[in-house]
Amino acid sequence: MKLRCAGFVHSNENASLWSPCARAPLRGDRFCALHRDAVDGAVLTIFMNGFSHGETHPDAQEIKSRRIARNQKAKNARLEASPQERAATARIRSRREIADK
Ligand SMILES: [Zn+2]
Repeated sequence: MKLRCAGFVHSNENASLWSPCARAPLRGDRFCALHRDAVDGAVLTIFMNGFSHGETHPDAQEIKSRRIARNQKAKNARLEASPQERAATARIRSRREIADK
């Protein structure tokens, strides 16, 4: 009997469903190389961070707050710009879009 990996993959027919992994397990392991790496990474993450369901990394809120503040600052700068500055910014964006094509 051919052994198969104990992991699961997204179904080809429906991405929200799971199917057994068809790969062969690593020698002496229950998982193929892909799933062994995924399991090791997930277990290491849990050991290092102690996350429970719905909990986020302690730095996540601070990083999110900084990103929101940075985006708000940029938005305020755009709103406070003079009409000439806004026109200049629009010209620069337009040139970049043309250059990117
Ligand atoms: Zn697998």
